[in-house]
Amino acid sequence: MTDTIAFSQEVSNLLHAAEGEPTRACIQCGTCSGTCPVAGYMDHTPRQIIAMINAGYKDQVLESNTFWYCASCYHCTVRCPQDINITELMYALKRYSIWKGKHKEGLVGPTFSEAFVKMIVRGGRSFEPILAPSYIFSFNLREMLQEVTNATELLLKGRLPVIPARIKRLASFKRMIGRIIPMGGLE
Ligand code: SF4
Ligand code: SF4
Repeated sequence: MTDTIAFSQEVSNLLHAAEGEPTRACIQCGTCSGTCPVAGYMDHTPRQIIAMINAGYKDQVLESNTFWYCASCYHCTVRCPQDINITELMYALKRYSIWKGKHKEGLVGPTFSEAFVKMIVRGGRSFEPILAPSYIFSFNLREMLQEVTNATELLLKGRLPVIPARIKRLASFKRMIGRIIPMGGLE
């Protein structure tokens, strides 16, 4: 991808748009922001992020916590009068951010997502003890102790494996994954 492509077109490509640029259809009505349950925690509301994409504010968009705070509830998507899939747009921005290695400092989302994808690529299954370090240090002491207590109880009840499981036919799975996501830097 080169800088000669407009940022809005790059985002459209990530959305697998067959034609056009979906964000260009936005009429800035604000329905998405008004319906978003976590808009109050976002640096920029969904409506603002779309305006920034269309204006080519790539660095500011990548520095925003907006898409990392998205809860994937789809409220905005089902209510958008222009049928813009805003939830998928948020996922696309996460992928783009990790791909470019650019994101706001101190967010749990990018570290967690990268750890999760690497783990799935290596073994085909999620394993909580490997994921925990990517978020547990963002907790306060009381929350950390609660997490440790929960994990211990799950271990004792056999609900948390001690050794990570691997899927069968892992090599085939890796080949398949290698065809659908850019693997640079993930292995
Ligand atoms: S609801 Fe749709 S048209 Fe309205 S601001 Fe949000 S993305 Fe744009
Ligand atoms: S899908 Fe994300 S951006 Fe849309 S309303 Fe839900 S939390 Fe907000």
